[in-house]
Amino acid sequence: MAVFSTGSDATGHEQVVFCQDKRTGLRAIIGIYSTALGPALGGTRFYPYASEEEAVQDVLELSRAMAYKSSLAGLDLGGGKAVIWGDPEQLKSEALLRAYGRFIESLGGRYITACDVGTYVEDMDIIARETRWVTGRSQQYGGAGDSSVLTSWGVYQGMRAAAEHVWGTPSLAGRRIGVAGLGKVGKHLVGHLRKEGATVIATDIDERARAWAIEHHPEVELVDDNQALITSDLDIYAPCALGGVLNDQTVPVLTAKVITGAANNQLAHPGVEKALADRGILYVPDYLVNAGGVIQVADEIEGFNFERAKLRVSKIYDTTKRVLAEAEADGVPPAVTADRIAERRMAEVGRLQAIRVRPR
Ligand code: NAD
Repeated sequence: MAVFSTGSDATGHEQVVFCQDKRTGLRAIIGIYSTALGPALGGTRFYPYASEEEAVQDVLELSRAMAYKSSLAGLDLGGGKAVIWGDPEQLKSEALLRAYGRFIESLGGRYITACDVGTYVEDMDIIARETRWVTGRSQQYGGAGDSSVLTSWGVYQGMRAAAEHVWGTPSLAGRRIGVAGLGKVGKHLVGHLRKEGATVIATDIDERARAWAIEHHPEVELVDDNQALITSDLDIYAPCALGGVLNDQTVPVLTAKVITGAANNQLAHPGVEKALADRGILYVPDYLVNAGGVIQVADEIEGFNFERAKLRVSKIYDTTKRVLAEAEADGVPPAVTADRIAERRMAEVGRLQAIRVRPR
């Protein structure tokens, strides 16, 4: 497989590391897109990819998105991400996670890991027995705990900013909002939306998640699948499951005027942002609004303070307003403007490393 020519930014990554421990079944790939602004921070996704190509593609896309996300969020962090290829239900063990931790340690701090789909704070505690370069740990180990709390808060702030841009008021009361995925983030998001008086329509493939909705928010309308959700009468669509949901099949049938959700890499391929704009749908870039999690785990590196982190995440409201206003003024999709701002900061602040602060 040709790794150098894979991914949407074929030559951009600094480093891609393949790690294997046959005894535990560990097959991990760590992608470091950029360390221009600091160590490459990004979670570990534990997922049963259909093929090695799919795993490589995902780690390349996800690590690139982390560099843009941290830059746009104003963090002193680069962009990285890792995937462990396999079914976490079958494969996850103490030995596998510790083997993985030793590979992270070998990178000397160029990559810092955290949770993602399929990994949890207790997994980070195990990885931390082998490496310092872990954040997103459990509270009993001084960690910030589950990052989905602030991720959902940031998505909610981005949604309010988008609503203000489109409808002249940030209020979501009475808006029809479709949430795809009632996982860690989706659940908290539903709570914020219901508290503000929005009408929520939701879907999830997992029976346990659907049961959670019936128990905690019986007024939420559950539909069969994502297709049923996006074609129902919506003002806002919030993808909170996996990526690639905005594609050539879904864009033509979307009813929502605004898309703001937590899922990483929602656009299936370059050009989808233009197709959305042509249909008059405002797509707020995923990495702009879902930065709450990385802001939280970045705060943990300094010694976690929830209020300080929440204040920083709340700024996603202002950043979203700025991106949407600049995009409108320049006549380009918000995804283009967000990329430009992120790239500018990586270049301008990253360049400062060239100023020598101590003799060799
Ligand atoms: P999660 O694994 O807890 O939840 C995902 C949910 O989506 C699950 O309930 C799953 O059953 C459901 N799902 C999967 N496929 C589906 C489908 N086809 N249709 C409907 N539902 C489906 O993950 P999470 O932590 O809630 O994260 C959700 C998304 O947000 C992911 O893309 C993740 O990368 C992204 N994200 C999460 C964080 C965070 O802090 N947790 C931060 C940034 C981005």
